Amino acid sequence: MEKGDSYAIVDLNICDKDSEKADSPDTLKKIPLTTVIKIQRDRGERDYIGFATLPEQVHRKSVKRGFDFTLMVVGESGLGKSTLINSLFLGDLYKNRKISDVQDRIEKTTTIEKKTMEIEERGVKLRLTIVDTPGFGDAINCEDSWRVCSAYVDEQFRQYFTDESGLNRRHMQDNRVHCCLYFVPPWAHSLRQVDLEMMRRLHRKVNIVVVIAKADSLTAAEVKRLKTRILNDLDEYQIQVYQFPECDSDEDEEFKQQDRELKAAAPFAVVASDTVLEIGGKRVRGRQYPWGIVDVENPRHSDFTKLRTMLISTHMQDLKDVTQDVHYENFRAQCISQISQHAMRERGKLKRDSMGNNTDVVFTDTDRLLLQKDEEGYRGIRHSTYARHVNSNATKTESFR
Ligand code: GDP
Repeated sequence: MEKGDSYAIVDLNICDKDSEKADSPDTLKKIPLTTVIKIQRDRGERDYIGFATLPEQVHRKSVKRGFDFTLMVVGESGLGKSTLINSLFLGDLYKNRKISDVQDRIEKTTTIEKKTMEIEERGVKLRLTIVDTPGFGDAINCEDSWRVCSAYVDEQFRQYFTDESGLNRRHMQDNRVHCCLYFVPPWAHSLRQVDLEMMRRLHRKVNIVVVIAKADSLTAAEVKRLKTRILNDLDEYQIQVYQFPECDSDEDEEFKQQDRELKAAAPFAVVASDTVLEIGGKRVRGRQYPWGIVDVENPRHSDFTKLRTMLISTHMQDLKDVTQDVHYENFRAQCISQISQHAMRERGKLKRDSMGNNTDVVFTDTDRLLLQKDEEGYRGIRHSTYARHVNSNATKTESFR
């Protein structure tokens, strides 16, 4: 089919004469078939139906509605999380932050702090929520750190599931976590136990994007080595961080090149700054050192621009789509499975009670069908999760299940 051709999908009720059963007139059945009929149109005014404006209608509606995006930042305090968020979204989200002292940090458990800001750019509104996890990894025992983060992600899914199943779905708010920026310290040699534990708990619930913090403290060779080790660890421990989707073949060469560079740069080694400096008459966000200036946006100094491009300009919608289609679907399938298993147990109990001493539970065909459907649905979604995240690799498939 040529680009620009018009075609229609039509539901037809036709007799399926070719099927095996069609031999006998008794079994001749009307089977609805969906047939794609290609309608070639000259593009003159006369033949214009009007559905070509559908993308504009969708665009107008989405702009009016605005967009939601929730970003979770995870990493020890002092790694530059707040500075990076301020640099990414050109705001000052952490003006009144209280830094906890050593004693506090030993005793304190990880908490969740949510900050929301509404940003508008060229008429497009974005409701951005930053979920910070102060105290993460600060205490001697880090076990509660991942527990708190994981419970928060689950809770947002649960809330969305409840809202979705409720009567009034018009004003539902999407607070699900669409992306988790996981900060690895620059002094680490590779992923540490706490990083692996945390990612293991989160990788099937949220899109993890790994960043190496304060990359200005590393030489180019050290950055390269740390990136390689992190990638090896992710592979070895089978942690599925966010996978960039394949670039469409009809994209222009410039976009394809940008996409290749983004993929090659992960995990992103970033430098952040709250300070705006003047370099050669140009105002830039940077860090001033006795020996020179690190320009945060200079791709030779750090991957900050690549991270910002990916997170905001090119992959924000994909992060939301994967959250909806993969992570939330997984959660939803598990919920439905639990609900129907509970209902079946209850029905079984009722039947046992009504049958007196006969304790054998009799499953009806409907019960069996329900169980089978649960199983299939759950397996199907797990499979699609896997397919979206990993290139087919037989050994990994086994361990994922
Ligand atoms: P948070 O506790 O993780 O939110 O860390 P902050 O954003 O408060 O940063 C802690 C300190 O690190 C501050 O003094 C920042 O100026 C500094 N900092 C932030 N980003 C960077 C960076 O990329 N490189 C360096 N060298 N220092 C940074």
